[in-house]
Amino acid sequence: MAYQVIARKWRPQTFDEVVFQEHVSKTLRNSILSGRVSHAYLFSGPRGVGKTTLARILAKALNCKEGPTDHPCGVCDNCLEITKGTSFDVIEIDAASNNGIDHIRELRENVNFAPIRSKYKIYIIDEVHMVTTPAFNALLKTLEEPPPHIVFIFATTEYHKIPETILSRCQKFFFKKIPVETIAAHLQHIAETEGYKIPDNAIYSIARAADGAMRDAQSLLEQVISFSNKGEAVEISLDDVLTTLGILPFESHASLLKAVADGDTRALFDEIEKIYATGADIARYTDGFIGSLRTIRLIKNGVSVKGLLGLSDSEGRLFTDTAGLFSDEELSRMFRVAAELQNDIRYSANAGINLEMALLDMLHIKQSPSLSEILKKLGEAPAGQQEQAAAAPPPPKAQAAQPKAEAQLQKAPQPQEAEPETQSSSAVEKIRDTFYGEIIEKGEE
Ligand SMILES: [Zn+2]
Repeated sequence: MAYQVIARKWRPQTFDEVVFQEHVSKTLRNSILSGRVSHAYLFSGPRGVGKTTLARILAKALNCKEGPTDHPCGVCDNCLEITKGTSFDVIEIDAASNNGIDHIRELRENVNFAPIRSKYKIYIIDEVHMVTTPAFNALLKTLEEPPPHIVFIFATTEYHKIPETILSRCQKFFFKKIPVETIAAHLQHIAETEGYKIPDNAIYSIARAADGAMRDAQSLLEQVISFSNKGEAVEISLDDVLTTLGILPFESHASLLKAVADGDTRALFDEIEKIYATGADIARYTDGFIGSLRTIRLIKNGVSVKGLLGLSDSEGRLFTDTAGLFSDEELSRMFRVAAELQNDIRYSANAGINLEMALLDMLHIKQSPSLSEILKKLGEAPAGQQEQAAAAPPPPKAQAAQPKAEAQLQKAPQPQEAEPETQSSSAVEKIRDTFYGEIIEKGEE
């Protein structure tokens, strides 16, 4: 299968087919229907969200033999030539390429010639922010007094770099990043139509990796299909997708956190070995892991994350289950350890070691009694016994986990023991100092 077949085949050819940018296509259609065609349009927004695609549809709508129409026929010579990029009257210029600027210099002379076979002569200038100041000045002269048959469609990812003098003469449209759920639904539709079966988790992994760009999402889907194309097989697994994209699934984060919750250092290091074995970039993995911690804490605090973060149903369930393993206080402390890890990795010669140490810190946080637990215990104890309670060893849960941790790692972090009592401080203050002292110490490791 030739590369990018999907992206080309599924490129929208009508306003109706454009995914998510309805606020743009609706306004464009209305202006065509009411006969208010502008001489200059500016499409601005992130890459891969449909700017050039809509520019070509607009060109067809204006130059279709049936047009101007909001439903270009797609089959007349003008429409076909625009689709193929061979129309004499629709000139596409990439301002980022070397000859882009030369084209714009030529443009000023050529705009005065009438279109050859269509109603309008349309210039689609992509990456228009790359146009140099002298070239912008040349454009401006044309924009001030445009010949009636001329339409400019400018596209840019960097709106702020366009001179105000140009902006003020354009009808402006702002394209948005496409939400994960919208991309996922569209990819699933493409996959089904093309005869492939892909599980939801895999589709969502592709959709998230595309970062709001449908074009990227389709290219990634194409790669995944090429990778997993095994003769007649039309089923594509999550593993196929993750291998192609070079990412690890949320399941990996969940396994680490389960091991942390269970105090199971063996399971923890088994999962770390798996991460190493995939050759994953630890910094990138850590970014994803922090994202998962955030998701879990939001769930813990009752925030509805499904739409916010773009999760499939099964991913949502996995995160909810994991959130049930921790208290909010634990998640808060673990997040701080993870944020520190993210920072440390930037200066580390061996990021894997930083990851291991941070995970052991998290395991230790989980095994230590929380501040609220200690205060509750102190509150329950009769006044005379409070000092004793403070000096008491950690609960059996922490003790049970400790020998196991030592068996796995010779130098596992020890839960900090309470200092001997002094006359001056109360038991509660003592515990609080010990607790926060420990956090600070962790932070500095
Ligand atoms: Zn047509």
